[in-house]
Amino acid sequence: MIHLASRFFQRKLRSLTIVSAAFVLILVIGAVTFQFRKNMAPCHLAKPVMAAAEMRPIGNAQMNTQSTGSREESTASSSGVSSGKEAPPAYQTMYPDLYAGELVPAAAPKEKTVYLTFDDGPSNLTIPLLNVLDTYHVKATFFVVGHTDRQSLKAMKEIVNRGHAIGVHSYTHQFEQIYASPASFLEDYAKMHDLIKSTTGVDTKIYRYAGGSVNDYNKNTARDIIAEMNRRGYVYYDWNVDSGDAEKGATAKSIYRNVISGVHRYSNSVVLLHNTKFKGNTLKVMAKIIKTLKNESYSFDVLGPSVDSSPYLFCKIP
Ligand SMILES: [Zn+2]
Repeated sequence: MIHLASRFFQRKLRSLTIVSAAFVLILVIGAVTFQFRKNMAPCHLAKPVMAAAEMRPIGNAQMNTQSTGSREESTASSSGVSSGKEAPPAYQTMYPDLYAGELVPAAAPKEKTVYLTFDDGPSNLTIPLLNVLDTYHVKATFFVVGHTDRQSLKAMKEIVNRGHAIGVHSYTHQFEQIYASPASFLEDYAKMHDLIKSTTGVDTKIYRYAGGSVNDYNKNTARDIIAEMNRRGYVYYDWNVDSGDAEKGATAKSIYRNVISGVHRYSNSVVLLHNTKFKGNTLKVMAKIIKTLKNESYSFDVLGPSVDSSPYLFCKIP
């Protein structure tokens, strides 16, 4: 009797162990998948309209001065001179001056370089942020939006005057509108590019997509837009470290933790931060972030077309 009971419990115990092992395995797989999805947005983009030969590699690593989109190339192909090939999409002929021109080939950055990037400014918190960066002799990159009030324009000028890099983010930041088609993207981009140029004198060659290069609004248009922007020679940057300062309930503490732990994961990082009037916590914690990273021998630099963008892109097209 006792023997039978013990065999029964042994069998129960064995099946319980198998069930819990399976449960743990499912948990581990779930956690790994979640982390992966969090770090790398899925690459679910539609096929581009453009012929494969016209595609530029995503990222500027392999870009050389000859492959850079030029006005001549655009005129030749749009006027139909190019030997019976299909006519290029009409948006390729829009904004004939909107080309980046010659780009310096991408160089490898030195280890432990951090690129702080601030999106969605300028705002009333831009000058205070610039003051913090000045205190610690740190240069950063600002991807700006189309604010045209006096304070914002002054802040935009200050970004450049104090030696930081400036790039296009979006004029309107209205996702549905800008990602509706390559033409509407170009319209928004050209407007922001011009505002930066007329305000600061900088003919910027770098940009960041509003919402990142892969988002819920550009599934059907991202490939065409990216291909067109690559053809024109502009370089975009996503990020590999998200401060989480745009998330609901973000605190100075959570921003600090996200940035420091994120930076520790990579030898070089592009850190996503924001500079709207609502980002007081980001401003508040910047000094602490900079001090910690400097103590850990990280150095800071600005993004520019010569910085290889490919390690920081969400979606890599082979
Ligand atoms: Zn944004």
